[in-house]
Amino acid sequence: MAVPGKAAAFHLPPLPTVGEIIKLFRLKAQKQLSQNFLLDLRLTDKIVRQAGELKNAYVCEVGPGPGGITRSILSAGVEQLLLIEKDARFIPGLQMLSEAAPGKVRIVHGDILTYKMEKAFPKHLKKNWEDEPPDIHIIGNLPFSVSTPLIIKWLENVSKKDGPFIYGRTQMTLTFQKEVAERLTANPGGKQLSRLSIMSQHLCTVENCFVIPGQAFVPKPEVDVAVVHFTPLVQPKIQQPFELVEKVVQSVFQFRRKYCFRGLETLFPENGRLKRTEQLMMTANVDPTLRPFQLSMSHFRNLCNTYRKMCDEDPSLFVYNYREELRQKKMRKSLCKSTSQPQQI
Ligand code: SAM
Repeated sequence: MAVPGKAAAFHLPPLPTVGEIIKLFRLKAQKQLSQNFLLDLRLTDKIVRQAGELKNAYVCEVGPGPGGITRSILSAGVEQLLLIEKDARFIPGLQMLSEAAPGKVRIVHGDILTYKMEKAFPKHLKKNWEDEPPDIHIIGNLPFSVSTPLIIKWLENVSKKDGPFIYGRTQMTLTFQKEVAERLTANPGGKQLSRLSIMSQHLCTVENCFVIPGQAFVPKPEVDVAVVHFTPLVQPKIQQPFELVEKVVQSVFQFRRKYCFRGLETLFPENGRLKRTEQLMMTANVDPTLRPFQLSMSHFRNLCNTYRKMCDEDPSLFVYNYREELRQKKMRKSLCKSTSQPQQI
């Protein structure tokens, strides 16, 4: 569990407020980029406290924008702060913050979705996976269109122990749309249980820390926001490759309202589908009439382990793609239709 850290371990010299920086550099939020800023430093302090003790820590902040969260991270007394910001308009304001905390801040004008974090921090910070997490934290309030694909990419990195997790079990404190945060932390049996819940909770301890009402942002977004903290687990709950777990979990949830049998069928080619689905469910000891949201983590583990054995016996199974089969069937049908049209003479 994240231990809320103390704020204000380091005092920044007097600076213009975040609101003044926005005016000074004309940083109007761009709606099409879903930019919503946090100006209240008590709130940004509260977000940063969810990351735990940050004194002398190494932190990467993603999407710092006008720098509200950045100030709170610096005030927590970090050793180094790496800022990754895609929008060039924010760089001068961030440089001003960097000058106020000499030698602590590195600014990268780039895209977090492609930025390689493997070399971002000194090697001596590396910890063994089984040890306590390294003194490296990722913190960010990103647009929702970026935070969801990013967490999926980082979960894959957790599973492969690469990217930011080359240093060990790097912790992340990130914001999401409230409903997405509820899915990330949903328990089995709850209607919110989804692909995101299983993919995140089988690899990490995931905590929904608190909700930030939409009106706390400038401009106010349509939705509320929640802060979520992730700590990678020493042992994933499902010990199979990321791609395999993702394939099984995705197939289960593609027909959310039906029995789980219906989604799992799509793992198998038409020829022998029923027999193989029955074999999978029986060996994994899963009642085929359960709905996807009623499945527990151990159901998913059994399904993944059994599917893995079936793929080992028949390697063509893993590359089988249900959607591709449907697409080809459709194409064949329309080809047949067009060739059987009477020709005009
Ligand atoms: N963190 C600031 C705050 O809380 O006030 C700004 C939040 S605003 C919702 C999101 C920020 O992320 C913007 O500054 C935006 O330019 C930046 N951003 C968006 N996509 C990004 C990406 N792919 N890589 C890095 N930064 C990104």
